[in-house]
This record gives sequence, C-alpha cells and structure tokens, in this order.
Amino acid sequence: MTPTEAIASVPTDLFIAGSWRTAGRTMAVENPATGEVLTQVADADPDEAMAALDAAAAAQADWARTPARTRSEILYRAFELLHAEVDRLALIMTLEMGKPLAESKGEIAYAAEFFRWFAEEAVRIDGGHMRAPAGGARFLISKQPVGPCVLITPWNFPMAMGTRKIGPAIAAGCTSVIKPAEATPLSTLALAEILQRAGLPDGVVNVVTTSRADDAMSPLILDPRSRKLSFTGSTGVGKHLLQLAAQTVMRTSMELGGNAPLIVFDDADMDTAVAGTIAAKLRNIGQACTAANRIFVHASVAEEFTRRITEEMASRRMGSGLEEGVTIGPLIDDKAVEKVNGLVRSAADGGARVLLGGVPEPGPGHFFPATVVTDVPEGAELGSTEIFGPVAAISTFTDEDDVIARANNTPHGLVSYVFTESLRRGLRVSDALETGMVGLNQGVVSNPAAPFGGMKESGLGREGGLTGIEEFLDTKYIGIAD
Ligand code: ADP
Repeated sequence: MTPTEAIASVPTDLFIAGSWRTAGRTMAVENPATGEVLTQVADADPDEAMAALDAAAAAQADWARTPARTRSEILYRAFELLHAEVDRLALIMTLEMGKPLAESKGEIAYAAEFFRWFAEEAVRIDGGHMRAPAGGARFLISKQPVGPCVLITPWNFPMAMGTRKIGPAIAAGCTSVIKPAEATPLSTLALAEILQRAGLPDGVVNVVTTSRADDAMSPLILDPRSRKLSFTGSTGVGKHLLQLAAQTVMRTSMELGGNAPLIVFDDADMDTAVAGTIAAKLRNIGQACTAANRIFVHASVAEEFTRRITEEMASRRMGSGLEEGVTIGPLIDDKAVEKVNGLVRSAADGGARVLLGGVPEPGPGHFFPATVVTDVPEGAELGSTEIFGPVAAISTFTDEDDVIARANNTPHGLVSYVFTESLRRGLRVSDALETGMVGLNQGVVSNPAAPFGGMKESGLGREGGLTGIEEFLDTKYIGIAD
C-alpha cells in the first residue's frame, strides 16, 4: 500500500451515532517529516461536538444492558482487525506523527493489546456480598458503568492512548466521545472504522476532531450527562480540565506530564543500563511522558556510561520514519524543535557540555538530532522541564540518599528508572522514589496488564492492569434487610 492509498483509506468526517458526518469546517493534517499537508479532516464546532455527546448519551442505556460477553467479543474482533491491518495503520501513524515505521507497528500491536486485555476483563466484572457486622442486614455490592465518557488523547501515541481509554470504556459498558489531538486525528478515525467493522453498535464510540479543543470540548465536559473524563496530556491542560470536571463532580482519570529520573548505580550491569537508557530516552524520539528526562549516573561509572550512550546515540540515523534504518524521526512541529533547542542552549549557557548533536536541522520537516549533554547544572531548565526530544541530559552523583532527593525534587511523579545489580538496593530505592511506576533494570514500563499512572502532579488514577476497568465503573451497594 502506498502512503497516498493509506491516507485515502481513512474516513475524514466526524463519527457520530455510527455514521460519518461532515462538519462546517475542515482542518489540515500535516506530515511532520516534510511539512506537507496529508489531507483535511472535520474541524468540529461546539454544536457539532455536542451531537457526539447526544449520540453517546442516547446509546448508554442499551449498551449498559448489552451482555459482557458481547462487549468482550467486539473488543476481541477489533484486536484481531488491528493486527490484520497493522501495515496500513502503521503507515498512517508514521505519516501523521513521524515515528519510525517499526515503532508505529510496535504501537499498533501495543494498542491492540489493550483491546485483548479489556476483552478478557469485560467478563470478570464482579462484586461482593457480606453481612452487616451488627447483623440485621446483608450487603450486595455490584459494579455499574459510570455512564457516557469524554476521552481526550495526545498526539504522541495516537493509537495506543485511544485504545487504552476506549478499551476499558467498552468493556465496562460505557459509551464515549473521543477527541484525538489535532495533529494526529487519522489514527483515531481509522480506529473508529475498525470498531464499526468489529460490530460496535452505533453511538457507543463517537469521534470528534477539532482544532478548537477548548471551545468544542468544554461544553461536553460541563454537560451533566457526561460522567467521566479521561485525559492524557500536559499537566497545565489537565489542571484546567480538572477545574471544569469539578463543576459536575464527574469522575476523572488524568495521565499528565512526567520528568522521569533514571539512576545508574556503580554496580549496574553496563550493557543493561545502556540498553535501558537508550530505550527510555529514544522511544518515540524522546516524545513520551515516560521518557528518561534526568539521567543520574554514579561518578565512578560516569565516563564509561557517557561514552557508550554517546556512541549509541551517534550511530542512530535521523530522517523520515518511512526510510529503512531510520530510528530518529521528526519532532511533531517547529514549536517542539524550538523548545528542545532552547532547553539545550540555556543549559549550555549555564555551563553544561554538549557532547553530541545539539543543533536543529534546517527544514523541511521538524528535526532535532540525537543529543548528549553532560554536567547539567543543578536548577537548569533542562532538568526541570519535560524535554520531549532525543536529548540525554546526564549528571553525576555519589550518594544514594542524595540522588533519591534529587530524583524526587520535582512536582511530577510518573515513572523512574533504576539500574543496579543489588536486589536490596533496587527495591529500597524503588520504594523511596515518588513515582507511580519504576523500571528496575528496564527502560520500558508500559504494559496493558500493568497499572499505568503517576503520583503528585503526574496524574490521578491508573490505566490498564486489573484496576484499569474500575476507573469506568461505579460501585453500588444494596442493603438488604434480613
Ligand atoms: P501536548 O503538549 O501533548 O500537545 P496538550 O495537553 O496540549 O498536550 O494536549 C493533549 C490533548 O488535550 C489534545 O487532544 C488537545 O487538543 C487537548 N486539549 C488541549 N487543551 C484543551 C482544552 N482546553 N480542552 C479540551 N482539550 C484540550
């Protein structure tokens, strides 16, 4: 399939109540590797977006009554279709988002796993029974879908962030309106078409694409019919959405920014530490909330570690994600390149050493090369801001308590990474780190079967794992007189 055919295969209208509806306006979707316009998609205004919530609200009661086995089978068919169409979907993802094709294929498989996982969970929603401690009554405890959901996803994992929210919503018996990021609407539109082919009833999932996120989505969030908001994106937007959600006390799941520390102790296995750091740093061209943002390496192994990281990063090819052998694709837009460049420049001005890269590529496309920066001064913006680019910022430490304090010295708390061959130290340090997840001797923690989420300002709630479906369920207890 050619890129043109892949793009032409995606519906570009709003997906509402099972049909594709045009909007009054359209918006362009660009290829970040070239700056070229790939296609136009619907750009919903507030009324057009509200029609999606109307559809979700209308479908809720029937969907909640649909047997769990039926919901499960739809998810399982969608899982199979995602695999059957991985080549087409990966091509679409690389074209709209930029990541290398191999990583896009990896994301489709990862995204599909959420459907398989929640297909398995849909039929295991259970409750409980107990007698009142003082006697005279018994309690029947059951779970119900929370109701229509508003799901808002970012551009960096255009398919997996969608399935991670849609999967548990479908499994729990909730209908939803999903709004993908304006930069990457095509993957979600392609997913909607797949869900329809998998047999999803009309109105259960509705897709709103818009360039006017605030105008179009605020009325849906404030509408008392929507009972759950699940958001993945920046901490600033997350805080704003939490304030809106407070108006109707709707349930929220927030997966917000990170500032992941990665700690390499002197007893780390160097091959493992280097491979893990590269994975944690370069996955998605560094554009992940789980990316290793601050790398702390023990002074006694810093030279070897830094040399090996620099060699490894220098060997990476940068270019269009469609080219064979490329592992560093473009950043999402020029603003991202300017941000990464500004962080590196100001660290260098403050005394940091740039060992590799550090200078943006001229256009077309939005490229920033693999970069290694050492001696990052304490307090540099490079250490306190989510970099979202292929920049390894390395500093050294000598004392365990000191490095834990530095690692925790951030309002964020999504994930941290620890490399040590000592089990005792690994667990001690993991316990002390104020993050919702820890990668111990591994650079990737994401797994649909594990509870993904953060502490502190990195968010609320967990996605995936055994608790992921709970985020879409209300607990009800019926007190029965004996
Ligand atoms: P990023 O920095 O990754 O682009 P954002 O938080 O800006 O993160 O965006 C994540 C998602 O939130 C996107 O789908 C974006 O359109 C959406 N978004 C941004 N601002 C708002 C808002 N005020 N209301 C609703 N959605 C928003």
